[in-house]
This record gives sequence, C-alpha cells and structure tokens, in this order.
Amino acid sequence: MPEPDSASEDQFLVFGQPQIGQDEIDEVVDSLRKAWLGTGPKVSRFETEFARYKGIDSAHVAAVNSCTAALHISMLAAGIKPGDEVVTTPMTFCATVNAIAHAGATPVLADIDPVTMNIDPAQIAQRITPRTRGIVPVHFAGLPCDMGSIMSAADAHGLRVIEDCAHAIETELDGVKAGTFGDFGCFSFYATKNVTTGEGGMILAKDTDDIERAKMLSLHGMTKDAWKRFSDAGHIHYFVVECGFKYNMMDLQAAIGIHQLARVEQSWNRRREIWGRYQEAFADLPVTLPAEPKAGSRHGYHLYTLQIDQKRTGISRDAFLDAMIKRRIGVGVHYLSIAKHPYYQQRFGWRAEDYPNAWKIGQETVSVPLSPKLSDEDVERVTRNVRGILRHDGGS
Ligand SMILES: *Cc1c(COP(=O)(O)O)cnc(C)c1O
Repeated sequence: MPEPDSASEDQFLVFGQPQIGQDEIDEVVDSLRKAWLGTGPKVSRFETEFARYKGIDSAHVAAVNSCTAALHISMLAAGIKPGDEVVTTPMTFCATVNAIAHAGATPVLADIDPVTMNIDPAQIAQRITPRTRGIVPVHFAGLPCDMGSIMSAADAHGLRVIEDCAHAIETELDGVKAGTFGDFGCFSFYATKNVTTGEGGMILAKDTDDIERAKMLSLHGMTKDAWKRFSDAGHIHYFVVECGFKYNMMDLQAAIGIHQLARVEQSWNRRREIWGRYQEAFADLPVTLPAEPKAGSRHGYHLYTLQIDQKRTGISRDAFLDAMIKRRIGVGVHYLSIAKHPYYQQRFGWRAEDYPNAWKIGQETVSVPLSPKLSDEDVERVTRNVRGILRHDGGS
C-alpha cells in the first residue's frame, strides 16, 4: 500500500480521489501483457470475491460496466414495464430516475426523512397507486434506509425492490448487508465510489433466474457464457434470445476492482476515522451535521455532508462552495433535489416544493472530501478551512 501523499497547501485537493495502489497497477499491467482486455477470468474472480464480501453465492451476482447499467438491467429483469410506476427518492443521482424511465416506467418521488436524508416509508405509503410495481431505495451517503418498513410495504403491495447501493458497499442493517434486502442490489465502482474500477457496477439478485436474465440482457441478449466463445474450450455457438445491451465489465476494470475490494475494510476504517474527526471538529459550528448510524446499523461512510442554512450560518451554500474552491479544496453537492431538473419537470410535472425536505437539503447541502487517500494533514486542512469560512475569522 502506498503512503498517502498529502497535497501541499496550494495544490488542489481533488474531491473523491481514489486511492490506487501498486497491486492495482500491476494487475492492469498483467492484463495488458496477457492481452486479455475484455470480459474474462478477472471479471469472474471479481464477481466471486464481491459475492464472498457480501456473504452470498457467486451465482447471485453479475458484473456490469456501471451502476446505471445495473439499475437499468435490474428494472427489466424485475419485469418493470411501460405504464408501471416505480417509487424512489428525490435525494439521489439522476441515474436512479433515468433507469426507471429507460425501462419505460414512470418514476414517482417520495420525500426524504430530513434527518437521515433517506426515503421516508410514510411518504412511500402515500405514493403507492394501483400502477406501482417497484421501490428503489437509495442508501444515501451509506446510511442504511429503513429496510424493515420498505420491505413490509413491498410485501403488502407485491412490489419489486431494487436497492441503489452506489454509496453502500459496506452498509449493513441488523446484520443484513445492503443489496441483499431487496430483489436486486445495484453497486457502483465509479472513480469516486468506495471501491472503484474507474467505471463499473455490480448486480446482486436474490433469485438466480433474475440474475441469469440480467447477465443475458447485459451482453446483447446472448445465451449464457457467450464470453467463453473465444476460449480454448471448443467452439460454442451462441444464440440471441432477447434484444439486450452492451453492459459487460472488462477484465481491465476488474483488475483494478480485485485489489480495491481487498482493501475495502481498510479504506472504510480510514473514512470512518476521517468522518469522526469532522463530526468533532464541526460540532460547535452553526451547521447541521450528518446523522450518526443507529445501533445495529453500519454506515458506508461514502459522503460527509454539512448543511449550510444561510439564516443560521450567515453564508449561503453556494458562497461556501466558492470559498472552499478558492482555498483549493474540492467540494461536491449531493444532491440538488431531483425534482429541480427541467427535463423531469417537463416530462413528469414535478415541482421541487412538493418534496420540501429534499428541496431544502438540496439547497443547503455540501460534501467535503472523504477519501482514504487523504493524509492527516489534508484532513486538518479541510477542517481548518471549513471552520475559517464558517466562523468568518479568515482561517487560512
Ligand atoms: C454514482 C451513482 C449512481 C451511478 O453510478 P455509475 O456507476 O456512475 O453509473 C447511481 N446512483 C447513485 C446514488 C450514485 O451515487
């Protein structure tokens, strides 16, 4: 493992920069030397090791090239069809909603709990109609959703549950791992996520028929194990049985993921430590800090968010973002309420004020760096500058 190289004060601290070790570099070079770049043995190994991390059999997982692809394929494999409604949260990345729309269904928003920032089961109950076919909870920032209530609602109404676990590789609730509550769990290995392959994703499915369909759809709709057609196992004819997609993961990506996954707990511990340090360092500031995980739940510590309410803090969120960037510290906004985007407003008639908790948090939230790559000096630099801006004492 490389020593974290702390960025000097004038260097831009990149938000969400991954920590890439020598093992990842060597594994990618190995793929290049063997000239096996596409889907192959390393993808298989990554699937097996991810399944092991999740405590499930590898017959229940499928690697794909993004979480967006994972969500899209899961909708289709779940049988979501045009005319169906699927309930999700306004506090998410657009990919969650786009995947529902790409399946031809209508996304329906249920507002969040203002403390956890996760979808509120009471709001879900109000949005269920005779057309509702699915729920897509997002474990925001890695804090688990109230899956007990969500699964009861799904059971009562016969709904499919597709968990968006893009922030939640390490997340657990009462000993159950995120992505194994619902019918499907979708994970992201995008560059900023807790485990990265550059671009990449993983589908978990409870039912092996569902994962078989997902695998087939993610590779052109070709019959099982089509990638073996280039191996030495003898010629295998494949047949196209559906009109599928080109969503397979490459060995080059899995080469990175295998070693990222080997360090998943080490990276989680480091992020937990940084997250805790921020909680202490910002406790006396006039801002709202993120919710701590409840007893029995395990946080994924993907994001550390502050809520900047101009009335309390004396500075707007956007002015705070600018001030941080001026101090050469990368920041993020996760997220503006999804109901604020013009495309969805026009297509689905959404109004941001109909989801007041997501609207308010979307106006106030800011994410500060929380990468395992951060050195203690980097963390100190973040806390000093956040405090400096919010206390108007100039900081440094
Ligand atoms: C990152 C993210 C996605 C999309 O992941 P990709 O792998 O980039 O496609 C989906 N949902 C949420 C909540 C995310 O944060």
